[in-house]
Amino acid sequence: MLQQVNGHSSGSDAQGGKSLREDLQEFLGGEALLHELDDLTKVNPVTLETVLRCLQARYAADMFYTSAGCTLVALNPFKPVPQLYSPALMREYHAAPQPQKLRPHIFAVGEQTYRNVQSLIEPVNQSIIVSGESGAGKTWTSRCLMKFYAVVAASPTSLESHKIAERIEQRILNSNPVMEAFGNACTLRNNNSSRFGKFIQLQLNSAQQMTGAAVQTYLLEKTRVTCQASSERNFHIFYQICKGASVDERLQWHLPEGASFSWLPNPERTLEEDCFQVTREAMLHLGIDIPTQNNIFQVLAGLLHLGNIWFADSKDEAQSCQLMDDAKCSIRTSASLLQLPEDPLLETLQIRTIRAGRQQQVFQKPCSRAECDTRRDCLAKLVYARLFDWLVSVINSSICADPDSWTTFIGLLDVYGFESFPSNSLEQLCINYANEKLQQHFVAHYLRAQQEEYAVEGLDWSFVNYQDNQACLDLIEGSPISICSLINEECRLNRPSSAAQLQTRIESTLAGSPCLGHNKLSREPSFIVVHYAGPVQYHTAGLVEKNKDPVPPELTRLLQQSQDPLLKVLFPMDPEEKSQEEPSGQSRAPVLTVVSKFKASLEQLLQVLHSTTPHYIRCIKPNSQGQAHTFLQEEVLSQLEACGLVETIHISAAGFPIRIPHQNFVERYELLRRLCTRTSPGSHSPSPDEGHSEWSPHTKGATLQPLLQDILHTLPALTQAAATPGDPAEATPVPVHCGRTKVFMTDSMLELLECGRAQVLEQCACCIQGSWRRHRHRKQERQRQAATLIQAAIRSWLARKHIQRMHAAATAIKRTWQKWRIRMAFLASKELDGVQEKHVSQVPLPLGSLLLPQAQTSLLEAIIRLWPLGLVLANAAVGVRGFQRKLVVWACLQLPMGNPSSYAVQTAQEQAGVTSIRALPQGSIKFHCRKSPLPYADICPEPSLHSVTGFNQILLERHSLGHM
Ligand code: ADP
Ligand code: MG
Repeated sequence: MLQQVNGHSSGSDAQGGKSLREDLQEFLGGEALLHELDDLTKVNPVTLETVLRCLQARYAADMFYTSAGCTLVALNPFKPVPQLYSPALMREYHAAPQPQKLRPHIFAVGEQTYRNVQSLIEPVNQSIIVSGESGAGKTWTSRCLMKFYAVVAASPTSLESHKIAERIEQRILNSNPVMEAFGNACTLRNNNSSRFGKFIQLQLNSAQQMTGAAVQTYLLEKTRVTCQASSERNFHIFYQICKGASVDERLQWHLPEGASFSWLPNPERTLEEDCFQVTREAMLHLGIDIPTQNNIFQVLAGLLHLGNIWFADSKDEAQSCQLMDDAKCSIRTSASLLQLPEDPLLETLQIRTIRAGRQQQVFQKPCSRAECDTRRDCLAKLVYARLFDWLVSVINSSICADPDSWTTFIGLLDVYGFESFPSNSLEQLCINYANEKLQQHFVAHYLRAQQEEYAVEGLDWSFVNYQDNQACLDLIEGSPISICSLINEECRLNRPSSAAQLQTRIESTLAGSPCLGHNKLSREPSFIVVHYAGPVQYHTAGLVEKNKDPVPPELTRLLQQSQDPLLKVLFPMDPEEKSQEEPSGQSRAPVLTVVSKFKASLEQLLQVLHSTTPHYIRCIKPNSQGQAHTFLQEEVLSQLEACGLVETIHISAAGFPIRIPHQNFVERYELLRRLCTRTSPGSHSPSPDEGHSEWSPHTKGATLQPLLQDILHTLPALTQAAATPGDPAEATPVPVHCGRTKVFMTDSMLELLECGRAQVLEQCACCIQGSWRRHRHRKQERQRQAATLIQAAIRSWLARKHIQRMHAAATAIKRTWQKWRIRMAFLASKELDGVQEKHVSQVPLPLGSLLLPQAQTSLLEAIIRLWPLGLVLANAAVGVRGFQRKLVVWACLQLPMGNPSSYAVQTAQEQAGVTSIRALPQGSIKFHCRKSPLPYADICPEPSLHSVTGFNQILLERHSLGHM
């Protein structure tokens, strides 16, 4: 069932699973309120899916900051949100009684650190570790925090001290544009990517006023001066001087408009960071005067010209490589800008000096073209790195307070995030090593915070099973053998070693490490380190050289000869150093490699961090295109992994990621009690967490206790039922802990509870279905019986009615027929008796007068209705004849009484079953054609089998006939 929660439901029950998942989501978190959830560790369940959805919902609602336990997640809005950083908001957070109760914000973190310092509770010093991918907003966040401290840590009382503090703050803020101009560059990922790590220590006096600051930098990417990836740029400052210099300055620095430099790719792209004036002003505020500034820019121009020096291949190994034609001008310009003698500069680049033998004899060897290029690059990198360090020292001297004047500090670490490129080298190894170190520090801190939360809830539980990234750190920096030690050893032995040999050495020596991998498909020698944020493949080619970072002593000596005031400062001619330098070529003193220097500074940094209360800000880039309103889940997910947030989720999962308030727990799982009574009637299992389920007398829902206990009692039975037959289920404790306000459980337990709930619901559903079917069946049966009864009653009623009508009709026919027969018999007997004439004269004129007065009308009707019968009789082959027949027709046709001899009855021949009987008038006939001439027409004649047609075609005018 939890699979459905995690979105892995199978296709067949996907639909049912979806609704169940939604139901569970609603119960655990409440989907509609996802964006209102301020803390990612409070999403329920704590899974990557819900965390992502929560972040996305908040991003859509313009909420860019979200807490994640002791971490603040900052999403880059990629659009200006001025109201989010206004001084008014800074003051609001500063004045709030409980800033952490306000919306998550970097100012809340800033204020929290400031209050911690004020509280003087150990450790008083604070550190804020801002991490994230390039372009995620680390530098922006650090800058905003510095502005925040500049506002809140200013002295409100003394005007004098206020001015001093203001000046210091201004200097701290001004250090940003300078460091960004010299240390940031436009990369594929960020237009203003910091190419160095930075720890800023904001120093506070006993009254928590900012009195100064100190900056420490790490691992400047100095190779960028001479080598830029395609579509990337050199450090901003080179573009600033080329674009922002005045006409005079251009002349002075030999930077004519439109000049092209091979170390200045993509100059046509203009960024907002290319503002030379801002850098100059900031330098001025830091105490770097205009002549010094010009000096700096002149040296930088000299480096740009140095980049245009190209050598041709030498035909003979004994001959040094010659300059390309158009490079001759460049070396001259470069030498003049760096104030170096031109020939020694060229010679240093072309010829290598080797000291060998016991006497330290000096040999000179012409360099190959590639070596010449390397020496040229090395010279530029050397100058730039020293210049950068010097700038940092100048900034520090201008912002650093007297050591006695400050007592506490807040540290801001703007550190490069975890990096993994298609090709990774020593820089990435160092960066990822630093991230591993910081991750370990973070995890330890997070675990502590988790532990505290459990303690508050009254749980005694430790993350003993949690494995941190120590194995990976052992692989990188462990003792006695690790990747670092092996690379350093290669440098120390100074033996020629190929990349493949280094790979074999690392793989064979460190084969036992679980974090070392090998890419069999890779053609280049490499090794894989499985970092906490994912595996990274490092190429071994050039690793040792980079680690050595060899600076030929000739280059340093050359630079020491410079007449330039700045280069003189950067490369001082120290007599002691000079005297020691001579034998150093053969000295066995440990070589200070890049890795060992980095390791030392990292350890120093971690010592500082360990001595402080850490706060974490994880900057996240919602998309790599830098677009506002675009949240790409996959990109965010990989960053959550890289910044260790996934790790915190895993830590949560290692503990009890599901936390359900008592009330909600009882409401949802109360029905499990049915299961218990069914599985183990009458017996209660022991409480799953008897040792920890202490109930505070102040617990709000005290009435819930019996119910809660009842539910908890069912859990062992539930786990037992879920365990496979061979499993000793009793041995494993139920992973549920009852806190003071919440029930804590693991994912698996939630799954089990949901299974149990589904089982009970299924049973209930079956029961309801059975009852309903029974009820429906009974109802249908009753309805069927009733319908049958009604149908029978109606049918019998209809039959009775029909029979009654038939009966009445039959009676009427019978009676009329009987009367008719009597009459006919009477008439016949009269005829037979020979009293024809007499009788006729005695027959009353109207037909009706022969009958009894009361039956007159009905008889007449019967005659009318039965006239066909009469006609049939009259026409029958056998039957009445003669007068009798005439009388019948006469009666049928209701001819006027009078002289019967005035009519002659004529029967037409039978044709096709139609009999036509006509009473032919003996006198003249008058035809009337009126609208409705038929006195006895049947208005709805129904064709009958025996009906006689044709009779009423001609009718006689009875009255007129009567008179005739
Ligand atoms: P990083 O130092 O992590 O490489 P930056 O701090 O330089 O990244 O941020 C990159 C860009 O993102 C900035 O230049 C800025 O345009 C934008 N940005 C970062 N954070 C914010 C923010 N909170 N509000 C607005 N824009 C931001
Ligand atoms: Mg940055």
